[in-house]
Amino acid sequence: MEGVGQIVNKSDFNLNDIVTLLKTEGDEKLILFQKAAEIKKLHVKDLVYFRGLIEFSNICSKNCFYCGIRRDNSHVKRYNLSDEEIVDAAVFASNNKFGSLVLQSGEISSQVFTARIDTLLKKIHSRTNNSLRITLSLGEQSLETYKKWFESGAQRYLLRIESSNPELYKKLHPDDENHRFERRLQALSDLKSAGYQTGTGVMIGLPFQTYDDLAGDILFLKKFDIDMVGMGPYIEHQHTPLYQYRHLLISREERFQLSLKMIAVLRLVMKDINIASATALQAIDKIGREKGLKVGANVIMPNITPGKYRDDYKLYEDKPCTDDNAEDCINCLEVRIALANNDIAFGEWGDSSHFNNRKKAEN
Ligand code: SAH
Ligand code: SF4
Repeated sequence: MEGVGQIVNKSDFNLNDIVTLLKTEGDEKLILFQKAAEIKKLHVKDLVYFRGLIEFSNICSKNCFYCGIRRDNSHVKRYNLSDEEIVDAAVFASNNKFGSLVLQSGEISSQVFTARIDTLLKKIHSRTNNSLRITLSLGEQSLETYKKWFESGAQRYLLRIESSNPELYKKLHPDDENHRFERRLQALSDLKSAGYQTGTGVMIGLPFQTYDDLAGDILFLKKFDIDMVGMGPYIEHQHTPLYQYRHLLISREERFQLSLKMIAVLRLVMKDINIASATALQAIDKIGREKGLKVGANVIMPNITPGKYRDDYKLYEDKPCTDDNAEDCINCLEVRIALANNDIAFGEWGDSSHFNNRKKAEN
C-alpha cells in the first residue's frame, strides 16, 4: 500500500487516496498540510483575498434541516437591510480596498426580489466606480434570473451543493419540490453557462456523513471543474430538525480537523482554484480561519454587515464576531493573517486563476 508521502505527490487522486488523506493523524497529517501549503505557494502564492460579506436579509422561503434561519424557525427576528445600508457597506469595502464583495441572504424567488438585486448591483457599481467584483449567494434561481444579474454586474456566484451524495442530501432537506438535489445541480450548471465564476462547497461533519461521502465531494468538485470553493464544519443549531441527531456527531474539534484536511486535500486536487477559509471554522477555533490559510485556503470573507443585524443571521450556533463592527473585524484580521505568514492582497479583485485558465482553454 502506498504511504501518505507518495499519495500527496500524485497528479491524479482516486477515492481511496482521498479517504487515506482524510484519515491522516500526527506526522502523516503534517505531511499533508505541508504539501498543501507548498502547492498553494506555487500556484496561487501566499496571498489572501478579502471578500466583504454582507448578509443583507435572513428572510428565507426554504426549510433546510440544518439551518438556523430556515423558514419555520419562529425564534428568528427577521430583517432586511435597506438598499442604502447595503450600498454604504459596499462603499466601506471599496474604501478599505477589499476588491470584492459578497451579497448573501436567505432564498427568495420573486420578480420583486430579482428586480431589487438588479438595481442594487447597478447602484453598487456606480457608487464604487466599478472598483469591486461582486459575488452573489442567493440560492437557486432560474437561468434567466442568473443571466440578468450577470448582465447587471455580478461576476461570481456561490451555491453550495451541501453534499454531493444525493442520499445524504435527502436526509438534510424536506422531501418536496423546493429542496431537490437535481434542481440544485441544475442551478450550478446554469451558473456556469450564464458565465459566472462558479463557487460551491459542502458541510463537513454532518450526521450520517462518511469518509467516502467527503472523498466523493472532493471528486465532485474536480469533475464539475469548479472555480471557487467554500466549505466548513457543520455546526448544530438547537432550533433545527437536524439537532435531534446531535448524538451522531463527531466532536467539534474533530469536525474542525476534518475541515482543515478537506481544504488541504482539495488544494492538492485542484491547485489553482480559490478556496475560502469558512467563517464556521472560527466558530470552533478562535484562529480557525487563519489555520485554514496555512493549509491551502486563500480567501477570507470578513463580515461587513452592519453590527445591529449580525446576531439575527445565525445559520448555526456560536457564530463568531456577531458583536463586532466592520472596522474591528479588519484590524483583528490583519494581525492574525500576518501571523499566518500570508499577505493580504489589498485592492486586488483576486479572480479565480482556475476560471481564467478555463476561459482561455475554451477560446
Ligand atoms: N440561502 C443561500 C445562502 C445562505 S446559506 C443558500 O442556502 O445557498 C449559506 C450556507 O450556510 C449554506 O450553503 C450552508 O452550507 C451553510 N450553513 C447553513 N446552516 C449551517 C450549519 N448549521 N452549519 C454550518 N453551515 C451551515
Ligand atoms: Fe435558507 Fe440557505 Fe438556510 Fe437553506 S441554507 S434555510 S436556503 S438560508
